[in-house]
Amino acid sequence: MPGMLPMTAPSVAMPTSLTEALGALADHGPGAVPLAGGTWIMRSPLRREGFAPAYVGLSRVAELGKINVTPDTIEIGAAVTHARLAEALEGLPEVAALAFAAGNSANPAIRNVATLGGNLCARGFAAADLVPALLCLDALVEVAGASATNRVGLADFLMHRDRLLQGSVLTRMILPRCGRPSAHARLPLRKAGDYPVAIVSMAAGIDGSGRIETSRIAVGSVEPVARRWTALEDALAGQPLDPARASDIARSLTTGFSGREAVEAPGWYRVQVLPTLVGRAVAALASQA
Ligand SMILES: Cc1cc2nc3c(=O)[nH]c(=O)nc-3n(C[C@H](O)[C@H](O)[C@H](O)COP(=O)(O)OP(=O)(O)OC[C@H]3O[C@@H](n4cnc5c(N)ncnc54)[C@H](O)[C@@H]3O)c2cc1C
Repeated sequence: MPGMLPMTAPSVAMPTSLTEALGALADHGPGAVPLAGGTWIMRSPLRREGFAPAYVGLSRVAELGKINVTPDTIEIGAAVTHARLAEALEGLPEVAALAFAAGNSANPAIRNVATLGGNLCARGFAAADLVPALLCLDALVEVAGASATNRVGLADFLMHRDRLLQGSVLTRMILPRCGRPSAHARLPLRKAGDYPVAIVSMAAGIDGSGRIETSRIAVGSVEPVARRWTALEDALAGQPLDPARASDIARSLTTGFSGREAVEAPGWYRVQVLPTLVGRAVAALASQA
């Protein structure tokens, strides 16, 4: 079982197709888990977790490394690294939030190996940058299991992640292209090992007079799991793209958050910085609009 120290070194399988990967997970039983970039798994001992008895590597499964941009959607394979993602999405304003998140998370060495799938599947990782960015972009998650492949909304995936991933592999994300500008604002702290202590990702439809028609706003790293800030989405409808005003409105709506306590930052601080991050996200949207 993951979380228990195995008596022997873990086994590592390196399949070259998704079918083989799912077969290897089934063969090794419930203790086997996928291995992507390994940047979360390698730190298991620091979290006082043991290694799993068996890992199924995904880096040689070609279909998981593909990015497909069409006029209507952007599909991103789970094994795409943060660095490759940032590069591939450069110049596409509707996914600017995701490109910025991928290009500014962690550090260059980590970005070269950490994957999209690992960012979404690392249980207990509250500070994942790609999760709020994908939430504000209405992303769908595709999960392949031994008997079926399903697509679910990202919020549902996060809620049922453990069950959905049992013996399964996250294969790709599907993003609709709706032409709205988007932005990602994060507050890293040296004390937090450069992980962000709070994140605000935002996508907005802007009308001809520069006012927000509709928006999607997601908050990461503040609570254990990222989520949409729907009260703020409603309150910003009809407002101009004014960072100070958006920040003030956000300040009046933070009571619904219960900040997570951790050694690197107290919960109240994570909540307190949210209005500033909202202002920064709106400023970034205004510069795109
Ligand atoms: C010092 C440091 C700083 C970092 N800072 C940041 C940061 O600021 N922001 C940020 O977002 N990230 C940051 N990260 C990286 C973060 O750990 C990774 O982005 C991500 O959480 C793990 O990606 P990975 O590919 O290495 O996954 P792995 O470590 O290989 O796997 C992580 C988990 O996901 C599972 N998994 C992986 N892929 C799949 C899949 N396709 N299907 C099913 N399950 C899967 C694994 O079984 C495991 O449980 C940092 C890492 C380090 C070491």
